[in-house]
Amino acid sequence: MANLFSDNPDLAAQLDCVDLHDVIRIMENDFNAEDSDEFAFPAPASLEDAMEFFAASLDLLGDISANVIAPHRQSVDSEGTVLEDGVVTYAEGTRIAVEALSESGFMGAMLPRAYGGAGVPATIYMMMIELVSRADASMMTLFGYQDVGELIARFGSDEQRQEFLPGLASGEKIGSIVLSEPGAGSDLQAIKVRAFEDEDGQWRLNGTKHFISNGCGDVLMVLARSEPKIANIFGLSLFVCPKSDAVKVIRVEDKMGLHGSPTCELFFDDAPVQLVGKRKAGLTSYVLENLAQARFSVAAQALGIAEEAYRRALEYAGERVQFGTTIIDFPAVRELLDKMDLALTSSRALLYDSVVWLDRKVQISEAIAHGRVAEDDIPSMKARQREAAKFSNLLSPLVKYVITEKAQQVCIDAQQVFGGLGFIRDTGMEQLVRDIRITTIYEGTSQVQVSASLKYIMSDTLGELFDASEALPCPDACDDIRSMIIDNRRLYEQYRDAVSEKESPKLAEAAARDLADMYSQVFGAWALLRRANGNAGRRDALRRYVIEAQAFATGRLNALQNGSYDCWLNERDT
Ligand SMILES: Cc1cc2nc3c(=O)[nH]c(=O)nc-3n(C[C@H](O)[C@H](O)[C@H](O)COP(=O)(O)OP(=O)(O)OC[C@H]3O[C@@H](n4cnc5c(N)ncnc54)[C@H](O)[C@@H]3O)c2cc1C
Repeated sequence: MANLFSDNPDLAAQLDCVDLHDVIRIMENDFNAEDSDEFAFPAPASLEDAMEFFAASLDLLGDISANVIAPHRQSVDSEGTVLEDGVVTYAEGTRIAVEALSESGFMGAMLPRAYGGAGVPATIYMMMIELVSRADASMMTLFGYQDVGELIARFGSDEQRQEFLPGLASGEKIGSIVLSEPGAGSDLQAIKVRAFEDEDGQWRLNGTKHFISNGCGDVLMVLARSEPKIANIFGLSLFVCPKSDAVKVIRVEDKMGLHGSPTCELFFDDAPVQLVGKRKAGLTSYVLENLAQARFSVAAQALGIAEEAYRRALEYAGERVQFGTTIIDFPAVRELLDKMDLALTSSRALLYDSVVWLDRKVQISEAIAHGRVAEDDIPSMKARQREAAKFSNLLSPLVKYVITEKAQQVCIDAQQVFGGLGFIRDTGMEQLVRDIRITTIYEGTSQVQVSASLKYIMSDTLGELFDASEALPCPDACDDIRSMIIDNRRLYEQYRDAVSEKESPKLAEAAARDLADMYSQVFGAWALLRRANGNAGRRDALRRYVIEAQAFATGRLNALQNGSYDCWLNERDT
């Protein structure tokens, strides 16, 4: 029987390659959990127990994805969602998928066990998003919105946890993250939706939000301006808003893709809400904290869609005959397929080696906050938490940018392999191309991600990680590759220094994309090298990745040195 997890050895291998053990120990309080058999998902008794649970869960989800969700992908796309009298109806396939995911406990995969969740780390949750998105990309905004529960679990009150988490964990309730407004997309500090306390001390929201995925959901996490006199980011607070008559869906967008996911315009008509956490800290402490996970989630979604596109192209290329031979025998086609394969394996290594830093950061701060760290260990744990935060702050925008852009190209190349049929709806290839298009846009556009990465790249944030990788023993037959990765790091340094010498912030912004590509290629190469040990196929792919990275870095360095961006040195009339 088809299974999207067991048919993908590269995804399954991440369980062995990613260094999750310290994260699990911290999460599980060294396997001294206080929770008990009453929970739907009991705490693991050991590291092996935890890893077995993750593998079994992914296998079950691979089965559900292949046999329940994927068969409805095209009907969900053609049915879409319908808004009638303020009520949004999902496609039948979406309803079936949510039911199947809820029944098996996946809608609360990330949420605390005490409230009915399974308590998996973000790294495992990203693998789940990859699987579900491969089956149907539009499911991501239902399955992938567990951040709503996570925000309540981490920053809400006990009463809010009791009120909202059980329903979210069981899948009976679905959440939504409500940030964007017509005048505030990339620039969230421009948010205008007003939060105010009425004469009874009840917080209420008033105004319009737009482009809200699953805005018809039951539990909305809304960023709003609670301090009308503070126009910047410190004037914003976070609110949880249960569904009510005072929240109206006034429009569902007619979109290019993701038809199964309703993208709603919402009007809050003095809607009653509850403040989450501290006033004025909505964007700075909670939304930005959540953004790292949200960006990784979109990268995982893009990877899932691209994996599906590649699989189909590979299969088709082995069957389609032209000029008396299968088209896979044409080097031009084989070359496209190889490029896609490399894009997928490198993206996967990049994603899962990055998200584990988010896990480390979150789990250490949770352990400290809940008194699970001995007094003497607190300073060292805080230092580890700061280090993990530093890496995750860079890697989440960087990885989101790199993976979504690459995955988009994979889908276009896969469509190309189908020739004219790729343009015809029946094959489903055009749906994948339409669906992936949003991934470089939402949760921050590629340009915003590159810009957010720039200062961290200029200060060589991952330098210590690169030093540590260079100091490790090299896997068999990889010495030459290792030297090339080190050379590529030197090319990045030369490029960075050349940008600094120009002393122009605008030039640096214009060159940021080159820097992001180069820097991620060094990180990605070390991630692939760790996975290449004893595997000749992976070693060859890595060699190619590093050679291509070197050609790219050399070319861009030449372009910079020859004045490609010098137009930014003078004030430019844009
Ligand atoms: C299908 C869909 C689902 C969505 N789901 C949600 C959701 O669930 N919740 C939610 O809150 N929002 C959601 N959004 C909104 C989404 O996050 C925003 O559309 C996105 O962040 C971009 O904002 P914008 O559309 O206002 O574009 P703009 O911010 O106007 O950007 C326009 C262009 O300017 C560039 N740009 C803007 N600022 C900068 C900068 N500082 N540096 C360089 N370039 C810049 C951008 O890259 C882009 O090319 C969704 C949007 C869509 C289309």
